[in-house]
Amino acid sequence: MNTTKSQELYKEGQKHLVGAVNSPVRAFSSVGGNPLFMEKASGSKIYDVDGNEYIDLVLSYGPMIIGHGNTKVVDAVQNQVSKGFTFGASTANEIKLAKMVCDAFPGMDKVRFVNSGTEAILSAIRLARAFTNKNHIVKFAGCYHGHTDALLVAAGSGLATLSIPGSAGVPKEAVQNTLIAEYNDIDSVKKHISECDDIAAVFIEPVAGNMGVVLPSDAFIKELRKITKEAGILLVIDEVMTGFRSKFGGAQELLGIEADITCLGKVVGGGFPVGAYGAREEIMQMVSPLGAMYQAGTLSGNPVAMAAGISTLEELQAQNPYDKFNEQAAIIEKALLDAAEENGIDLTVSRFGSMVNPFFTSKTVTNFTEAQECDTAKFTKFFWGLIENGVYIPPSQFEAWFLCSVLSDEDMEKITNAINSAMAGINN
Ligand SMILES: *Cc1c(COP(=O)(O)O)cnc(C)c1O
Repeated sequence: MNTTKSQELYKEGQKHLVGAVNSPVRAFSSVGGNPLFMEKASGSKIYDVDGNEYIDLVLSYGPMIIGHGNTKVVDAVQNQVSKGFTFGASTANEIKLAKMVCDAFPGMDKVRFVNSGTEAILSAIRLARAFTNKNHIVKFAGCYHGHTDALLVAAGSGLATLSIPGSAGVPKEAVQNTLIAEYNDIDSVKKHISECDDIAAVFIEPVAGNMGVVLPSDAFIKELRKITKEAGILLVIDEVMTGFRSKFGGAQELLGIEADITCLGKVVGGGFPVGAYGAREEIMQMVSPLGAMYQAGTLSGNPVAMAAGISTLEELQAQNPYDKFNEQAAIIEKALLDAAEENGIDLTVSRFGSMVNPFFTSKTVTNFTEAQECDTAKFTKFFWGLIENGVYIPPSQFEAWFLCSVLSDEDMEKITNAINSAMAGINN
């Protein structure tokens, strides 16, 4: 496999960019290599600067759920670009996307658009504190909620991959009101609630996707909803990854719970920088200009991004690929398990709709501690095996693979063959 141009760009990029990347998850440090530089993408495929073709199971870490370059999205974006990029004033499309989002999430009467998942989360922290007049927040070990100071503790994938316990530059004051609980362990939440009467909110990924894919047990997630409600604590459900991924709407609905505040990102912007937070009327009344909680943004609700979001969601709704996602994810799961067994390798697969994750361990993974017990050396070999066989997955054991709606039967066959070769290569 020729990666000469990627190597050259990596060398050049290191001079002017930090590690030649603009987000650490894009570095290949945990899989012992240099990042690939991408040039273009179309449908289910992505092409690097050396012309290598891959089936894309990264999909920009989620947003490209209908594949790359969907013609309806391209048309909508080009049409908006010809009319203007940004006005610093309201546009009709912001209302249209807001209505689509509120219709899809029963718990949301109103929504505010921002520019990233991180921004949605940091706004939700402020909103929860403003609404409850309390200061503490609970998060779960291994859940990632963007890089805002208060939640940058025990924060999953990017950090787990780099083995950084938190982050330099986060003052202890910024995290002193953050309490850590254990995913799938309701007693760890109850303990905080019994010991602290100043909790504004509990933040959770409804299906964790940043310590690898970890599903919540039914009892855990329902009990979490119940005890937070009883204690007057807001439940903030971070659907930045899960939103629109396993149904048109949120994972919370599939799990049978409803958030007080929901955060979105990734899919909702169709590949452009959009985040969102929303809640029922009485909570959203707190947000400026209606209420006293200030939050603003020069490019928030950007017209080009709104056009991309609307057309992506319309297309997603029309295609309704969710049954297909389940079927294809099941095929990938079986391929992974069969190949692992064939080669005597311990493997567990966890999946939720279009999110799939092989863990190199024999045990079911239910929390961050168990996720970290995986054999990452095996993952590294497997990763390069897939790359060499034309399948692009995230360069980390702790990131989900994503499926897009335009994966063909031929793509699926290629993925299965690549899994077989890569798994066989682990023992060599
Ligand atoms: C990606 C992600 C974020 C952060 O979103 P950015 O757009 O990268 O800031 C927050 N929460 C979850 C669950 C995510 O997967």
